[in-house]
Amino acid sequence: MPEMSEVGPEELLALDRQHVWHPYGPMPGLDEPLLIESAAGVRLRLARPVAGQRELIDGMSSWWSAIHGYNHPVLNEAVTGQLSRMSHVMFGGLTHEPAIRLAKRLVDITPEGLEHVFLADSGSVSVEVAVKMCLQYWRSTGNSRKQRLLTWRGGYHGDTWNPMSVCDPEGGMHQLWSGVLPEQIFADAPPPGFDAEPDEAYAAHLRELIARHAEELAAVIVEPVVQGAGGMRFHSPGYLRVLREACDEHGVLLVLDEIATGFGRTGTMFAAEHAGITPDVLCLGKALTGGYLTMAATLCTSRVADGISSGEVPLLAHGPTFMGNPLASAVAEASIGLLLGGDWAGEVKRIESGLRAGLEPARELPCVRDVRVLGAIGVVQLEAGADLAAAGRAAVREGVWLRPFRDMVYTMPPYPTGDEDLARICAAVCAAATAGAPASAA
Ligand SMILES: *Cc1c(COP(=O)(O)O)cnc(C)c1O
Repeated sequence: MPEMSEVGPEELLALDRQHVWHPYGPMPGLDEPLLIESAAGVRLRLARPVAGQRELIDGMSSWWSAIHGYNHPVLNEAVTGQLSRMSHVMFGGLTHEPAIRLAKRLVDITPEGLEHVFLADSGSVSVEVAVKMCLQYWRSTGNSRKQRLLTWRGGYHGDTWNPMSVCDPEGGMHQLWSGVLPEQIFADAPPPGFDAEPDEAYAAHLRELIARHAEELAAVIVEPVVQGAGGMRFHSPGYLRVLREACDEHGVLLVLDEIATGFGRTGTMFAAEHAGITPDVLCLGKALTGGYLTMAATLCTSRVADGISSGEVPLLAHGPTFMGNPLASAVAEASIGLLLGGDWAGEVKRIESGLRAGLEPARELPCVRDVRVLGAIGVVQLEAGADLAAAGRAAVREGVWLRPFRDMVYTMPPYPTGDEDLARICAAVCAAATAGAPASAA
């Protein structure tokens, strides 16, 4: 095979089709992916023009992760600086400054009480670690019957086995495995609306389920405030306080999965802050490294750590090969530094206003069921039966990268997205919603 640089786009795409598996797709894939040559700022550069576009404004932050945009000089420097010192060493028996600094930073910026940090390689693995921590905590403290999890419907927690078992059991990506996965306890989905008054009947439903299953429940696990890949729904922070109280009352641990919501996306640094609560265990990922490298973190309180570490098997039996990777740690630390050193809250507020104004016209479209915005997240929900491929193509024609899914066209742009680019993203969302309208609604 010739050097890669000599292989043209057509040939690369043919090889991709022949050999490369893409997310949530068959082999070979149904739609040809766009070939990206480079990315800088908030723009993705295509290897060959598509629909007359050579560059696309990124409306996705590469699945919530690239909060500072691409090719950022400070993040580049963090990686190359670390690269010249050491790209990786094992974390068993060895440690290093990048991981130590990162752990300290995470303890400092997360809700009070989370003291200990387990660095894992991906969000799903951090959820596996969280589940293992909770089950082992109860086992170590003489409650080995507490092995099940409770969540609410409409959630998403990753694609490995335990996380799949707490994803929305219906209509989600993992429906195929119901009956094979461990059976968890599901509450109804939280009533929609970030600003809605908490519904007393729903709060009672949560309390009742936790009370009824307390003896077998190790933990409640939920995404706070925003349910991401399970349907992009927002709920009142009040329900998180209900969960916190009910968990405390009945001896159940509370895990918050902030893999999508962490690092400012919903308008607070962590979504738990909307409710003013501290979970027993917290999962972080996605934007942790500013979208540069794969890394996630599971944080826990001293109570959880002490319980595990004083048990019958006084250790947490988990240790990924690339745990605490120095390159990922260094860039994560730099990404948090960039956030804290800038006005991330102002940026997210500005994007929120821009999305509210720019997506408002979508309400008038015949096929649109709902338009909702929270922080730097904008969602246009269509009637069922939307043509997502047509919606995506329409966005590309507008010069914007979006990836509509289920019945939704949505965007969570990088924080430095300027007002003009934001207006173009909103126009593209509206164009995509129009193009994706189910035939019956058009
Ligand atoms: C993406 C996501 C995960 C899984 O993270 P991966 O890095 O893809 O394994 C888990 N929980 C939530 C809330 C997510 O958004």
